Amino acid sequence: MFIADLHIHSKYSRATSKECIPEFLDLWARRKGLDLIGIGDFTHPAWREELKEKLIPSEDGLYTLKKEFRKEDDIANTNFKPRFILSSEISCIYKKNGKVRKVHNLILLPSLEDAEVLSHRLEAIGNLHSDGRPILGLDSKDLLKITLDVCPEAIFIPAHIWTPHFSLFGAYSGFDDITECFEDLTGHIYALETGLSSDPSMNWRLSALDGFTLVSNSDAHSPANLAREASLFDTTLSYPHVARALQNRDTREFYGTIEFFPEEGKYHYDGHRTCKVCMKPTDTKAASGICPVCGGWITVGVLHRVEALADRSEGFVPPWAKHFESLIPLHEVVASSLGLTPSSIKVKEKYGNLIRNLGPELFILREAPLNDIEYKAGVLIAEGIRRLRHGKVEIQPGYDGEYGKIKIMDKNEINLLSGQSYLFTGQEDQKQFASKPAWTQKAPAHKAAPVPPLEDSRLQDKAAGIAQKLIEDMPYGLNRDSGKPFPPMSPPLLS
Ligand SMILES: [Zn+2]
Ligand SMILES: [Zn+2]
Ligand SMILES: [Zn+2]
Repeated sequence: MFIADLHIHSKYSRATSKECIPEFLDLWARRKGLDLIGIGDFTHPAWREELKEKLIPSEDGLYTLKKEFRKEDDIANTNFKPRFILSSEISCIYKKNGKVRKVHNLILLPSLEDAEVLSHRLEAIGNLHSDGRPILGLDSKDLLKITLDVCPEAIFIPAHIWTPHFSLFGAYSGFDDITECFEDLTGHIYALETGLSSDPSMNWRLSALDGFTLVSNSDAHSPANLAREASLFDTTLSYPHVARALQNRDTREFYGTIEFFPEEGKYHYDGHRTCKVCMKPTDTKAASGICPVCGGWITVGVLHRVEALADRSEGFVPPWAKHFESLIPLHEVVASSLGLTPSSIKVKEKYGNLIRNLGPELFILREAPLNDIEYKAGVLIAEGIRRLRHGKVEIQPGYDGEYGKIKIMDKNEINLLSGQSYLFTGQEDQKQFASKPAWTQKAPAHKAAPVPPLEDSRLQDKAAGIAQKLIEDMPYGLNRDSGKPFPPMSPPLLS
């Protein structure tokens, strides 16, 4: 099993970190436990030069960082050796059937040579120098045709298909039907990227998507955001195997995805950011799409758009459904569990210590025994990760470009678990905790996805008791959608 994040950007894309260079991508992939990274922006000439200088071929169609460019790090595992795959995102803006379409497409290629040839073909159409994610006045279907002409093995994935302004199904930019976009070439599309604001369970509601592999990627604009969403492959690490896994959805070679809770994404709900107005789709409809504060138009989000095109009810799970896990980045879990802000120095220190002592971020979030986490990082962080694994988090949904806000524990619980309240307050506080544990708060909308039953009564019975007991009793290491332990991960790739 390996973890892949196929859509990221280089420092040559707009609004990206200067650290989006191979050295830091390699470093952060080691911290995260990410095996395969889309290198991003291969259409940019200067980026290709940098890749030629810093990468060497590894497995068939993949690359790795040359030893001399590897950054030493006192946090990350030095034996872990991430691989790179050639990837690029292109923004196609064009008119079709009387409407302006703005669709982002992700392209994967098996070699730098193919990237060179495709880029030369695209240079005749538009400027590839000014932005690592170029904007071309090119029909998505024509981009697909050119790509396949240059490289029949290319993998072409419509990116973040639900975002309102730049995507295949976007409310303001896209199509209602994928075949209207790609026509007779639709059969060459095998995979769709669901984006941060939707998860597989939302996409299962459209029978029109049944034939596609649903992939997830981070679309990171800084290395620290790598693998915030990712895909799980249970196959050999090579370009042809990745392509085959995406094409053959019925095998287990494409195993599933690591997801944001879709509410965390910045376009999950509807709303108007300037007026700080966030609305669920039914409220938007009731308000005729008008912002109640300024009278302008509400931006329709992903949930609304999915519901508009869905032909199945919420909660439908197809028999071929792939595994998925909803995670929150570790530094945010740490921050929320300690009642701190994610950018605080203490959170950074805890994050570094956790990885140094226990292993990469994704291992800690998904697999590390909670006893070990508690031993190394304390009861609060262990409890935060336990709640995350059971989907017991509170999220104020994102809207109109604003990320969702996460709460895993409130102040009372933090005090109680850290022993302060329990030690220094009387029966009253204990009763309050027993009557209002966080897991009775409204669970996020993704709850339609299968979740193992929680033995809440046990927790509630003990809630007034010793906080430690919460940790000791937990069915550690369960995953959300099956209640079974996570499948064993293959050992880190060694150099
Ligand atoms: Zn995009
Ligand atoms: Zn992107
Ligand atoms: Zn407004």
